[in-house]
Amino acid sequence: MALIVQKYGGSSVADAKRIRNVARRVAKAKDEGNQVVVVVSAMGDTTDNLIKLAYQVNEQPGDRELDVILSTGEIVSSTLLALALESLGCKAVSLTGAQAGIQTDSSYSRARILRVDTKRVVSELEKGNIVIVAGFQGVTQEMDITTLGRGGSDTTAVALAASLSAEICQIYTDVEGVYTADPHLIPGARKLKEIGYEEMLELASYGARVMHNRAVELGELYNVPILVASSFSDSPGTIICKEASMEVKNKARGIVYDTNVSKVTVVGVPDHPGIAAAIFEPLARANISVDTIVQNASINNITDLTFTVARNDLIKAMSIVEPVVKSVGGKQCVTDSTLAKVSIVGTGMQNTPGYAARMFRVLYEQGINIQLITTSEIRITCIISEDRVKNAVQALHQAFELEKET
Ligand code: ADP
Ligand code: ASP
Ligand code: MG
Repeated sequence: MALIVQKYGGSSVADAKRIRNVARRVAKAKDEGNQVVVVVSAMGDTTDNLIKLAYQVNEQPGDRELDVILSTGEIVSSTLLALALESLGCKAVSLTGAQAGIQTDSSYSRARILRVDTKRVVSELEKGNIVIVAGFQGVTQEMDITTLGRGGSDTTAVALAASLSAEICQIYTDVEGVYTADPHLIPGARKLKEIGYEEMLELASYGARVMHNRAVELGELYNVPILVASSFSDSPGTIICKEASMEVKNKARGIVYDTNVSKVTVVGVPDHPGIAAAIFEPLARANISVDTIVQNASINNITDLTFTVARNDLIKAMSIVEPVVKSVGGKQCVTDSTLAKVSIVGTGMQNTPGYAARMFRVLYEQGINIQLITTSEIRITCIISEDRVKNAVQALHQAFELEKET
């Protein structure tokens, strides 16, 4: 008997009718002889609405309370799915993240899973239950509720699949798999039959919302095969696995974009050892991820330093950086939140010259100015004006001929 983990996203459980649809799909997987663990997201826009509500009563809601209120969204959908399964005559039990043994650190709103204690889930499976787990949440050692970051239910699912040694983790969503670009933006985007963890991690980290990046990271670490497919059809979907060797001829595999970016420029700091450490160490301690970092050539031992952070981290980042800049005799900090990242990703690009130059030419031909450039071995990212980013994705998708089967 195989053990499988299925995850259904917010749009798949957006209303009662869709929850009944999910219940039928889960019941079918159980009838086929599997042990089934299901992870659910909150219904539709519930998480956004809960955040709005919290801000209506407090302009600066504390992280701890915010995590508690956000966790309720997934609890509602998990209980509704258990009830829908019962009405189909299936034995099912819903569990919160804490009950399912998802133990995290205490970084509210971006907690990381430390371990999964599978005792309760295993005992419910042994009783013949379908186990429905509320996604996106965990609990600290002190029994405080945490959440894993937006889109984090994917990570709950893969963490459970890894801990239970499940045969597969199936991520069901509102598109039929992973595409060469967001299919809602690029109608000609092509569905990939399979993709390696490494490429998927870059796509997820640079804007392909379809998978939470930490879920991909865990999948790779524990070698969990992940299927991304639609909850509304039986189309075969995309497999994320170790070796995706079939489709490497076209070396760029995907184009992604991300508008959650703010640029900070620290102007006029002295160019001597220790300045970068003085600025970036406290940011790291505050758990703020810094992405692109560029330091200009210095003139008369004075230099400028530019870096990017997520928009929702900007206020916190500035409150940390401004006093440091003052204390080292820097002139000022300038910010810009009208930017976006556009990236091309593909393992075949490493050791193949010319991809970056081609990308820059395409953007130039569209009259798009590149503000910053960052690369990994398998990714090239340009930071451009937010209002041109969709145009950039379209032009790059066409120029790299990603709609063509390879
Ligand atoms: P869920 O609620 O099921 O977790 P999400 O909204 O988080 O779903 O992710 C699915 C969405 O990801 C799709 O509706 C699609 O618009 C977007 N997306 C962005 N890039 C891609 C891509 N490369 N392939 C597939 N979907 C993508
Ligand atoms: N409900 C959470 C969110 O909207 C988590 C998730 O959907 O995965 O981000
Ligand atoms: Mg998601």
